[in-house]
Amino acid sequence: MASGVTQQVNDGGEPFTVEGAPWIRVVPLRTPTLPPATRTNCYLVGDAGRAIAIDPATPYSDEQDRLDDFVQLHNIRLSEIVLTHHHLDHVGDATRLAAKHGVGIAAHAVTADKLRGRVAVTREIADGERLDVGPRGLRAKFTPGHAPGHLCFVDEAASSIVAGDMVASLGTIIVEPDDGGDMRIYLESLQALRAEVAAGMRRLLPAHGAPVDDGGALLDHYVAHRLGREARVAAALTGEAQEVVALVPPAYPDVSPALYGLAARSLLAHLIKLEYDGHARRHADGRWSRA
Ligand SMILES: [Zn+2]
Repeated sequence: MASGVTQQVNDGGEPFTVEGAPWIRVVPLRTPTLPPATRTNCYLVGDAGRAIAIDPATPYSDEQDRLDDFVQLHNIRLSEIVLTHHHLDHVGDATRLAAKHGVGIAAHAVTADKLRGRVAVTREIADGERLDVGPRGLRAKFTPGHAPGHLCFVDEAASSIVAGDMVASLGTIIVEPDDGGDMRIYLESLQALRAEVAAGMRRLLPAHGAPVDDGGALLDHYVAHRLGREARVAAALTGEAQEVVALVPPAYPDVSPALYGLAARSLLAHLIKLEYDGHARRHADGRWSRA
């Protein structure tokens, strides 16, 4: 999926520059994220005089030192910290880095709300707003679903989209209903990103894993995968009310029992969408049947 760019990355978390877009530097930093991913990419976008850091997330001091060394080595003057969404593996270093550089933290209003009491967001970014970094700036694109305040950042000069957790080239994307995740809205956001790719923004820059040159193929795969799973979940429902955990084995035959806990959370996200679409029925006791 990352053909053509895989030479840019390696397993050691070494920083790299996005091909053809030297104003986008990437520092993969170790975070408490979902295996098999072990790192979150911190995207430094801009020139040395003025750059933003998207998703500085490592809580580990040795990794924070690596980021600081990189910023210092390249004489990068940070103007703002920007967050794609509120998840812990995207925000873990925001407060420290903002204080160190004397800059603010920007995110969508919903993310700011989610982070209240944990990370102080000082500026809200609205859908469509432009951030003045790099040759032509970044355009914020509101893409809720994985997280309710999720933003992507479209870089037209690089024909690329900083995609946060909309997709991953390493690991999987979880939609967690208990934390504002919404499968129906996530699918809509995937389609909205697909339209951006069709309009020329073909390369996706995910938070976890290498850049993906053929963003359209990856997004098509994601949509097909989710709809395929939804069909399995729908097929597992019967006229009789069942517990969510009972639906996991038939709906996730390809998943090892060790991951059933995670699968049950994703399954619930599918059930909520099926309920919305009129195909599933939630009973008062939390069990589910065909509608
Ligand atoms: Zn996330």
